[in-house]
Amino acid sequence: MGQAAGVHHVTLNGISSWSMRGNGQNGTAHLTSWLFSKERQSTQWWYRMVRAKSWTLRKHFEGFPKTSDFELKEVELPKLKDGDVLFEAVFLSVDPYMRPYSGRIMKEGDIMIGSQVARVVESKNPTYPVGTYVVANSGWKTHFISDGKDLQLLPPWPEKIPRSLALGTIGMPGLTAYFGLFEICKIRAGDTVLVTAAAGAVGSVVGQIAKIGGCKVVGCAGSDKKVAYLKQIGFDEAFNYKAVGSLEEALRKASPAGYDCYFDNVGGEFSSIVLNQMKKFGRIAVCGAISGYNDTVPQKGPYVQIPMIFKELYMEGFLVSRWNHKRDEALKILLRWVVEGKIKCEEHVTEGFEKMPAAFMGMLKGENLGKAVVKV
Ligand code: NDP
Repeated sequence: MGQAAGVHHVTLNGISSWSMRGNGQNGTAHLTSWLFSKERQSTQWWYRMVRAKSWTLRKHFEGFPKTSDFELKEVELPKLKDGDVLFEAVFLSVDPYMRPYSGRIMKEGDIMIGSQVARVVESKNPTYPVGTYVVANSGWKTHFISDGKDLQLLPPWPEKIPRSLALGTIGMPGLTAYFGLFEICKIRAGDTVLVTAAAGAVGSVVGQIAKIGGCKVVGCAGSDKKVAYLKQIGFDEAFNYKAVGSLEEALRKASPAGYDCYFDNVGGEFSSIVLNQMKKFGRIAVCGAISGYNDTVPQKGPYVQIPMIFKELYMEGFLVSRWNHKRDEALKILLRWVVEGKIKCEEHVTEGFEKMPAAFMGMLKGENLGKAVVKV
């Protein structure tokens, strides 16, 4: 717990206890400070002015993102119209996809893309009464007004489960693990499954679902602490890919007979090496390629055809949104596994909306164990 200033780790299911640091203000102090604040003085009693902060992409990333690529802005939100809902962010997600998608779908000056768990604070829409929680793809914003479309209501949520998990194990990353394993890898009991970025949001769930499915699981991660965590949550084998002399040998040692399934989160050279250790008719789910997201010149590598042909491999890229029609059903299963303790969840929580860029860059560097989230 309490790793670096403003950052703490949250663990669920018996490894350590759930704890969140507050901002040190109790409710009365908060109310008193608001009553005498400039915000209060410039507010008519029936209408509370809301100033929303947002992070924009000031400059397209070149190579690894820099603090100066982001800009914090603040705007005053209008009054709600009939049908409108005012949300405030509770937890925001920082994810690897933001790096490649920023170049594909964003212009300089746009608000950074991303999802958040948000709470209704004012409503003129009966579907979303005050206090309702949703997951919204509203970008890096502290507040936003919605007409109620394109919001995902949280399923009935047990009190003991942090709602931040709706951005992780019981959200998009968990679904990615679930569909990648069942729809692409088509895991069977007895398979040996390899997963990279194994201690992250997707990877840690991949390993645990594969164990539920009766597989042997091998995970690779970038620190000894992450490797220890993987063993703690039930991985059969795990190694620190940054510390081994030879990746070929480390992979061979972890599973001398090779791999039936490879859940590829990193791409690049690592994955080229893995191809040669797949078993005949092995299945590869190409989920992510984080090892190349910050490259200015695309990587060149050994090409896939020879091992693909002689091992008769099946390799398929996917986006989790392909299975949106099965999303609710899969979320119920993931929630149940978490409640039953079959899937353990770790979160890397950064406190403070101002720290969004730092949390994002930290995640890309591998500072996170489990899902990287920001608590407002
Ligand atoms: P993680 O929580 O795993 O965080 C990213 C991790 O990537 C870091 O912690 C780091 O772990 C690892 N990493 C960073 N740089 C490298 C590198 N050069 N080589 C190897 N590993 C690296 O993120 P997610 O679980 O959210 O995402 C994992 C992958 O899944 C990403 O590639 C992402 O784009 C992809 N993804 C794909 C989706 C889809 O629909 N296809 C949906 C969601 C995610 P370490 O310390 O181990 O290096």
